[in-house]
Amino acid sequence: MNVTQRYHFCPNDGFPLIEIHGATLCSVEHADAAIGGQQVVDASIHDGYLYLMLANFARIPLTCPCCAGRLHLRDMPLERLSQLLTGRYVEGFRHGEWVSQDDPQDRHPIFAIQFSGEEDVSARTIQVHLSSVEGIIEHQTA
Ligand SMILES: [Zn+2]
Ligand SMILES: [Zn+2]
Repeated sequence: MNVTQRYHFCPNDGFPLIEIHGATLCSVEHADAAIGGQQVVDASIHDGYLYLMLANFARIPLTCPCCAGRLHLRDMPLERLSQLLTGRYVEGFRHGEWVSQDDPQDRHPIFAIQFSGEEDVSARTIQVHLSSVEGIIEHQTA
């Protein structure tokens, strides 16, 4: 049985679809509209979750690609990660698949945010769970 069948993918770009307030959206189109090209102006930790604040006042929580909880796989404390990302620009997005070590294997789509910088692309790309994209808080102008 393939559990990834629960997920649907955007015919335009192959990114997984997400649901926000009952509406089905393409994860990358939603993320790009909300935070694409934006500079990370601040990062804060609430309840163990790292939130990035973008120049347009949008916020995104970074969640663990395996379980959607707090980031716990990085070999780096959240404080260091927040220092590392602050000042960078959101350069692009990628998608991939999480495959667990368990038997039976858990497989589900994951999302990744690529930040600007001098390092190798893999070193400045942060994998997150799709719930991060669902959790983007856009700046309310009303
Ligand atoms: Zn799409
Ligand atoms: Zn996890």
